[in-house]
Amino acid sequence: MATVKKDIRALTKEQLRDFFVKQGDKAFRGNQVYEWLWQKSAHTFEDMTNISKETRQMLEDNFVINHIKVDTMQRSNDGTIKNAVRLHDGLIVESVLIPTATRSTACVSSQVGCSLDCKFCATARLKRMRNLNPDEIYDQVVAIDNESRLYFNRPLSNIVFMGMGEPLMNYNNVLKAIDKITSDEGLGMSPKRITVSTSGVPKMIKKMADDAVKFNLAVSLHSAIDEVRTSIMPFNDNFPLDDLRESLEYWYQKTKRKISYEYVVWKGINDSQKDIDALVNFCKYVPCKVNIIEYNPIDDGEFQQANNEALEHYINTLEKNRIVVNVRRSRGKDIDAACGQLANKS
Ligand code: SF4
Repeated sequence: MATVKKDIRALTKEQLRDFFVKQGDKAFRGNQVYEWLWQKSAHTFEDMTNISKETRQMLEDNFVINHIKVDTMQRSNDGTIKNAVRLHDGLIVESVLIPTATRSTACVSSQVGCSLDCKFCATARLKRMRNLNPDEIYDQVVAIDNESRLYFNRPLSNIVFMGMGEPLMNYNNVLKAIDKITSDEGLGMSPKRITVSTSGVPKMIKKMADDAVKFNLAVSLHSAIDEVRTSIMPFNDNFPLDDLRESLEYWYQKTKRKISYEYVVWKGINDSQKDIDALVNFCKYVPCKVNIIEYNPIDDGEFQQANNEALEHYINTLEKNRIVVNVRRSRGKDIDAACGQLANKS
């Protein structure tokens, strides 16, 4: 019976060092291979040119490198790039490079499909198929970093976990991936340039605060009224706004870091004065800023972006209440790469 080869990137550096010692080799060999796997992103054992041929063969006999493969890359008129990424088991996720004048931001996926069921989101229609492994998250970032260097002559500057999936439902793997992304043995990026965006899982927000994570937190809020939020994000029934608020207060108490609220204004859903007042009130609990995000319809259904007047009213009211507000114009609409549109249509 053929033995199933292990994914070598599931091993820690220590485990890799131990493996080589057990093989009668030096522990240092483990360091060399580890560097190839992460810092140099080797796709095959053949690539590891300072490792002897015999050792490479031995690795080949025992392990696999489950590297992702960018199946298709689409470029938008505005420079945005969307990758359809094939995983070792044939499933596909998407990740996006969003360039601005000074920055290259990677928007990466954390799950295949999603465990949640936000009504306005294309990914929700796929249901959750599985969580991504840390190396699969890491590889998406490396692929986008390479594209940023190639097309924009600069390395990646920021990462947002805002692609497919709810990152806090794949907490351990997301954290392990961020460890690699920020470690000098990986990409060496500052955690300050990474934002994990959640739909708001109170228990996990508290856990992140307890774990003293160093990255930023964003919450897809979209409404500060329970009935409205539940109608568009049904899991709000289980994690109501009071619980969310309490977890965010806890986060701020422990980390002293501001929270970003992601907020889309939809026509007839959350564009009334009552909705604005509730948001202003919610913003008073914890230091925060609000990102108003332009919406990209996923079909002709009930979710349509509110008109400009309603958006202006939101922005003015927030500003009058001294709440920092940014407006995020949508990017990559023509290639279905914008927020809420990722659903493997390519
Ligand atoms: S918006 Fe995010 S959390 Fe909600 S279904 Fe889509 S991918 Fe999942």
